[in-house]
Amino acid sequence: MSLEKFFNPSSVAIVGASAKKGKVGYEILTNMINSGYEGKIYPVNKKAEQIEGLKCYPDLKSIGKTPELVVIIIPAAAVPAVMRECVNVGTKSVIIITAGFKEVGEKGRQLEQDILQIARQGGVRIIGPNCLGAIAPANKVNASFGGSMPEAGPTAYLSQSGALLAAILDMANAHGIGFSKLVSIGNKADVNELDLLKSFAADPETKVIAGYLENITNGNSFVREAEIISKEKPILLMKSGSTAAGAQAASSHTGSLAGSETAYEAMFTRAGIVRCDSIKHQFDFAQLFAYQPLPSDRRIAVVTNAGGPGIMAADAAEDAGLKFAQLGDETVDKLKEVLPAAANFYNPIDVLGDALSDRYEAALKNVLADDNVDIVLVLLTPQAMTEAEKTAEAIVRVSRENPTKMVTACFLGADKVADGLAVLEKGKVPHYDSPESAVRAIRAVCDYVRWKARPKRVVRLFPVNRRKVENIIDRHLRQQSREIGETESKEVLEAYGFVTPKGSIANTAEQAGNIASQLGYPVVMKIWSPDIIHKSDVGGVRVGLKNRREVMDVFDLMMYRIPQKMPDADILGVLVQEMCTSGKEVILGMHRDPQFGPLMMFGMGGTMVEVLQDVAFYLAPLTADEARQMLASTKTYRMLRGVRGQEGVDIEVLAEGLQRLSQLVTEFPQIKEMDINPYMIGPPGTTPIAVDARMSVEKD
Ligand code: ADP
Ligand code: MG
Repeated sequence: MSLEKFFNPSSVAIVGASAKKGKVGYEILTNMINSGYEGKIYPVNKKAEQIEGLKCYPDLKSIGKTPELVVIIIPAAAVPAVMRECVNVGTKSVIIITAGFKEVGEKGRQLEQDILQIARQGGVRIIGPNCLGAIAPANKVNASFGGSMPEAGPTAYLSQSGALLAAILDMANAHGIGFSKLVSIGNKADVNELDLLKSFAADPETKVIAGYLENITNGNSFVREAEIISKEKPILLMKSGSTAAGAQAASSHTGSLAGSETAYEAMFTRAGIVRCDSIKHQFDFAQLFAYQPLPSDRRIAVVTNAGGPGIMAADAAEDAGLKFAQLGDETVDKLKEVLPAAANFYNPIDVLGDALSDRYEAALKNVLADDNVDIVLVLLTPQAMTEAEKTAEAIVRVSRENPTKMVTACFLGADKVADGLAVLEKGKVPHYDSPESAVRAIRAVCDYVRWKARPKRVVRLFPVNRRKVENIIDRHLRQQSREIGETESKEVLEAYGFVTPKGSIANTAEQAGNIASQLGYPVVMKIWSPDIIHKSDVGGVRVGLKNRREVMDVFDLMMYRIPQKMPDADILGVLVQEMCTSGKEVILGMHRDPQFGPLMMFGMGGTMVEVLQDVAFYLAPLTADEARQMLASTKTYRMLRGVRGQEGVDIEVLAEGLQRLSQLVTEFPQIKEMDINPYMIGPPGTTPIAVDARMSVEKD
């Protein structure tokens, strides 16, 4: 059912309307009246004849007509009865402001279940309970106690916190920021974030969707739907709180590196959601998305009347991965005509401290006409002759003349630029309090543009031996053993096309020597025990053993020392393994998030992985592009590409390894965690090797 009637009802009943100033029932009624609402308002209150000049009804039935929207503000215990009344009179949309439900414990939770059941049976939709209400400025609907009505505008906002919404309203009103809809979702007993996202996506008044969430009701469908919606309209979210995964102790590297927010981060990346860390960022970003065109590329030019801020902007732009536009010769020639000789005609374009608005306008016009420029940031500092207001007017004018290019501004100062800022606000040219803030917002838009332009997601499927993996997993689950040790983890990997090092287990020093001679030197030796997960930690790994003597000595040493350190470990012998002499150590891993599913990890591998924490997470299944992006988003990547004459590794083959692992964990939801550490990857032409691996399984 559409949520239309919440935002555009022809009549509203307010159950619990009050004549007492300061009561919520009064605030909502007067907000509704003062918003200029053109439909019918029915206050419902058993004790009053009339409130604020409106006839008052003892209950919904006595209205005699069906109110399209009912707002409830009476004590929680009385809400179920009113819900039944709503069903009886045929109302389909109900906002329950009242608190005292799920958030107060078991009794409240039961009450919430009751009202939900009444609603479901009667085909009624509920926003709330325990919320601030809903606002639709264009329809003059203010069914909330959140404060005065904001201007109409292209941003829709949903908030899981009522208090935050009140703050946002206050800030928005101070800056003349407009909204299409504002909804406080409260306990989201029925209507949740996804319902609203879909509703906003379909709403012609909404261009940008923004919100604040503490949790997500259904992770899987949220990602799927948000990804579709993001293609049409940007979604800007603030998120606090953490997932259940964070609380769970993890034994794998991947698990211990996956923080509580990792899954959300990965989900946002996947769905193209723009994450905002604060209300300020969210406002900053939303303004730009709402009022300026999406640039076709990320080439930025800066026009300034002072050198310092220009350099600050240039630095910030470079850090943000924007491209500093190189102006065409023609543009430079034109700038030489319109600017004084002392000006800087190259980006950042310095119109000099004595610039009046005309100089700004001429520079801006020419820079915007250049095909090498997608975005212009105008900086202004209030110097003796500066005309902040007139310059703002010029910027607004030129911005309107160039509807395909993004124009933003940053006027540094306070009193001297205030009039200018007001002009920019009215003219819908977003302005920022520092070059860095401006660049941050520009970058958010550019990243969204890039996400939007990414190719359709196609996940490659490799031919694999599923049956073999099934057998290994089934056997472990039957025996109730959660951990799959190195040997069988490697069998699993081999079934999915990974290569593992040759080697076998020795029970005597003599045997160790024989295995080593067969493999050829150098070799690696590792203590072999199902009870030792991280072998190096107990001195259970020795690499680069060059001859039979060394191998036999190491065998004796390990078998002597390690049982002393780990008296309870069941030690099965020592693995003698071929040594990989070329290649870099990386880690490929997976940690299954209870809400969002398998989270793939890539990073610098080996024993230092937790120390360096240079890892990237992405939701499986991975496309080839996403696998490459994961690699590229780590610092390790530069080293992998080859530095200082060192040959780089085979990036494509590495990305393929991630995709194969992604396929494995997607096809086997029983796999909860998995590490390949290290995965040894060499230059093109060599075969990467899964040197060490472990995984844990659970009944799906
Ligand atoms: P664990 O992680 O249990 O300590 P690993 O098998 O991962 O044991 O070995 C620890 C480290 O020893 C690896 O990160 C790698 O640097 C090195 N190593 C282990 N096996 C080999 C091998 N076959 N070839 C080269 N280096 C190896
Ligand atoms: Mg290891």
